[in-house]
Amino acid sequence: MSSVATTISTPISIEPGSDAFPLLSAAQIDRLRPFGKVRLVRAGDILFEPGDNNVPFFVILSGGLDILEPCPSKPRPLVSHVPGSFSGEFAMISGQRAMMRGRVNQDGEFLEIPAGELRGLVAKDAELGDIFMRAFILRRLVLIQEGAGNVVLLGSRHSADTLRLREFLGRNGYPYKYIDLDTDERSQCILDHFEVKLEEVPVVVCNARNVLRNPTVGELADCLGLNVSIDESQVRDLIVVGAGPSGLAAAVYAASEGLDVLVVETATPGGQAGSSSRIENYLGFPMGISGNELAGRALTQAQKFGAHLMIARSAVRLNCDRRPYQVILDQGTPLAARSIVLAAGAQYNKPPIPNLNRFEGQGVYYGATFMEAQLCEGEDVVVVGGGNSAGQAAVFLSQRARKVYMLVRSEKLADTMSRYLIRRIEENPAIELHYHTEVTQVDGNDHLECMTWRNRATGQSSPQEIRHLFIMTGASPRTAWLEGCLALDSKGFVLTGYDLDKPTLEAKAWPLSRPPQILETSLPGVFAVGDIRSGNVKRVASAVGEGSIAIHLVHRALAEM
Ligand SMILES: Cc1cc2nc3c(=O)[nH]c(=O)nc-3n(C[C@H](O)[C@H](O)[C@H](O)COP(=O)(O)OP(=O)(O)OC[C@H]3O[C@@H](n4cnc5c(N)ncnc54)[C@H](O)[C@@H]3O)c2cc1C
Repeated sequence: MSSVATTISTPISIEPGSDAFPLLSAAQIDRLRPFGKVRLVRAGDILFEPGDNNVPFFVILSGGLDILEPCPSKPRPLVSHVPGSFSGEFAMISGQRAMMRGRVNQDGEFLEIPAGELRGLVAKDAELGDIFMRAFILRRLVLIQEGAGNVVLLGSRHSADTLRLREFLGRNGYPYKYIDLDTDERSQCILDHFEVKLEEVPVVVCNARNVLRNPTVGELADCLGLNVSIDESQVRDLIVVGAGPSGLAAAVYAASEGLDVLVVETATPGGQAGSSSRIENYLGFPMGISGNELAGRALTQAQKFGAHLMIARSAVRLNCDRRPYQVILDQGTPLAARSIVLAAGAQYNKPPIPNLNRFEGQGVYYGATFMEAQLCEGEDVVVVGGGNSAGQAAVFLSQRARKVYMLVRSEKLADTMSRYLIRRIEENPAIELHYHTEVTQVDGNDHLECMTWRNRATGQSSPQEIRHLFIMTGASPRTAWLEGCLALDSKGFVLTGYDLDKPTLEAKAWPLSRPPQILETSLPGVFAVGDIRSGNVKRVASAVGEGSIAIHLVHRALAEM
């Protein structure tokens, strides 16, 4: 949602009657009455505090409700609800803890509806669902824009840990106030107040009382209560491991088709796609869409249908000897499910070049499609790698680029590349091959501008003004945690469907009379989608497609149990 926020340049109106604070009609309120009970309230009553879990939804029938920030230095309400208005923001849908204090400002009557009932209603009643979703999303955007809420982050723009925490909060659409210790004059006061030493920065203050010193994202998620509404003892229809495009697609389709689904994500929703500044080849977005925005929209959609998301938690083992299967988390917690979708993706193998991440999508690429080729029209490019994908990229790019420098660490291509490709490369005057060579440095401002490569045999370094670097050194699947449970290919990607031959299935003791369905692994009811799957085309669209198809197959597998 944060990325949606960045596309809104005008302030959102917080006046009663605006989209963010609509007033319900008497007929709409009557439709809500059966879901809750009327509660008498008195001026000064506190209905919820920052950090409270499972806060109900209130419709103001008479009287009024102030929404206040937890920080005592700001006693003025952020907003005041009047009759016809209702409380809540996006946490009402995602099941997270309250960020604000709700204090009654005038005696009256409120309709109180449990949060779970409201979530059910949003998925079923199209008219009210639209009103609430729009209001909750806009209210979250107001909080993000204002830096309002229950989190203060004190950090330095020169600190990688500060960037790590800002990225985590931003990509999770969580509002926070940022205080830059390098420029903010009050910062020493704040550090003294919370007895924090400079070397403990970055520091996060949650709910104006808990102080976290350089926390992990898991500790921060716990403090914010991001996973608080998740019942870990429940046996679910489906657990999806990974919230990249494939996992989010699986979550949307599973939840919308009535399955009880939990998604577990190590870092932040969006996966690799989340780090792409613009995806231009995804159907329906002719002007492109940032990976972060696509992920934010998909996550909102999944949560609207009732999918649960467990953030900053990793699956570290699969107990696969009996059903329901168990996904074991990093803290040792077992989560049980009748079926599993593995959507943990892959990681491009990255050579250890300082600052490489800074230029991803801005001159550093991991794929060479028509789109990247257009960006390099008439310019020099570098392709790193000695395998078939590097060879294909070099040949393809040579049609558009002025010159392609192909850098290979070894002394020849014959061991790693097909013969026909080697011949094409050697005969192509636009490709210049450099053996024993690796990139040691990249530099630039907003875009990659120059790099240095070094010949490992001679030790000679060559600085070059080249703006495009293609890293084609393969990808590694995130499958180490599945050890022993599933059949994998020689590179560790998960084998599915037709790729599982008879001997492999026998070796894995496939127990059913039917063969595995497409996308099904050597374990019945466990599916693999997206980049983690052997033979997958590493693209957002194919990840989304596979995640969606898998749910149809999950239904079949569940019916067999
Ligand atoms: C910089 C960049 C730009 C790209 N640009 C494009 C583009 O323009 N167009 C295009 O089509 N493709 C693009 N791609 C490729 C595309 O992003 C991937 O093919 C796609 O994201 C794969 O989706 P996925 O869901 O299978 O896996 P991923 O996106 O890799 O997501 C997997 C998720 O699983 C999580 N995870 C991993 N292990 C665990 C675990 N043990 N427990 C819990 N969670 C776990 C990860 O944190 C991650 O969020 C790009 C890739 C990169 C890196």
